Amino acid sequence: MKWVSTRRASPPVPFIDALFAGTAPDGGLYLPERFEPLPAPTLERLRSADLVTIGTVVGTHLLAGDISELQMGALVRDALDFPIPLVQVTERVWALELFHGPTLAFKDVGARTQARLLHHFTDGTPLTILVATSGDTGSAVAQAFYQVPDSRVFVLYPEGQVSDVQEAQMASLGGNVTAVAVAGTFDDCQRLVKQAFADGEVRKKVWLTPANSINLGRLLPQAFYYFLVARLRQPPVVAVPSGNFGNLTAGLIATRLGLRVRRLVAATNVNDVVPEYLRTGIYEPRPSVRTVANAMDVGAPSNFERMRAMYDDDLERMRGDVAGAAFEDTRVVAEIGRVYKEFGYLLDPHGAIAWLGLQQVLATDPKALGVFLATAHPAKFREVVEPAIGEAVPLPSTLADALARPRHSERLAVSPAALVDLILR
Ligand SMILES: *Cc1c(COP(=O)(O)O)cnc(C)c1O
Repeated sequence: MKWVSTRRASPPVPFIDALFAGTAPDGGLYLPERFEPLPAPTLERLRSADLVTIGTVVGTHLLAGDISELQMGALVRDALDFPIPLVQVTERVWALELFHGPTLAFKDVGARTQARLLHHFTDGTPLTILVATSGDTGSAVAQAFYQVPDSRVFVLYPEGQVSDVQEAQMASLGGNVTAVAVAGTFDDCQRLVKQAFADGEVRKKVWLTPANSINLGRLLPQAFYYFLVARLRQPPVVAVPSGNFGNLTAGLIATRLGLRVRRLVAATNVNDVVPEYLRTGIYEPRPSVRTVANAMDVGAPSNFERMRAMYDDDLERMRGDVAGAAFEDTRVVAEIGRVYKEFGYLLDPHGAIAWLGLQQVLATDPKALGVFLATAHPAKFREVVEPAIGEAVPLPSTLADALARPRHSERLAVSPAALVDLILR
């Protein structure tokens, strides 16, 4: 199978090229040339399968010819070594909890699988991964590559500007992970990373690899967990809390592979350019606004281009599959309190937006069942959740352990030469 650019202006490439490229030469994003649905008996078997089996079958199907089922199985077992439970919350609503990985957010699924895919396809050539972070992505990427053979990770973050927990998650690993505290802003970190990638001398000496969120290695594994909703007695409405729309795009991919859902819900905070597109047909990216669900504060969602390409720009067809919904902070916070009180279920701000989007669609569809994706552990957003419910939220052991471990960061001036020294040291 070949992989094609959403802009159709650069040639189709084999998977390995798409995996290491990030964006296509024409600036587009890679998608498979076509989606081949899984055979009906396989889909039936997956309804009762566990996550590792699903990942093995779906992953091998997507990468047919590029990786064996045995290799994919080993890779998925190593990457997805944490549970993704489907938890019943009300008579007709379930939470798919994606936050039980090492950084307690759903990005662990994509980042951990991506790390192992990159390693698999390099045949032992050492990789150097360089990322700039304002907090969350860096900790997920650092944890994802931690102890992956033949890889070294440098995570650049603005000194003093990430949360205590985030710094602990990046700087307490050691081994092949180097945390780099830059005496500057997040933009400085990004600029340093860009300059290193553009440095021909560095690239002669080490194989620099980006680990960004538009990469296929991160996107495709997110299709796996959608198949867990096939356990329910009928295809549900599935609500997805969205920022860059990688998660929702993965849901669309799952349905093209044969998963049956009633509808997907693109749920956002007030950064609502995609729900607006669904409502008006006009797509107008704009600067992002800060909200309580800050992992979704995105004004120009990177994966929207993939969504559009998957529908050949046909708005009506997209509307048939995807409903939009957007919510303000006050509503989100109030709902966290209400749901905790009424159902004893604790939502984080991102999951709460998906829950709200789901309720909106279920209200017009009385026979439907619903699933919302819970993307972060509520303890990661204690400053929002605790006032909403009027109670303390205990820190899970994964976070408490990270906070207790010793930390080490390399300190770096905003200097491309100093970064090169560090990488080549
Ligand atoms: C990144 C993130 C999202 C948004 O996911 P996208 O794939 O960018 O739409 C939602 N919730 C949490 C907790 C996240 O970290």
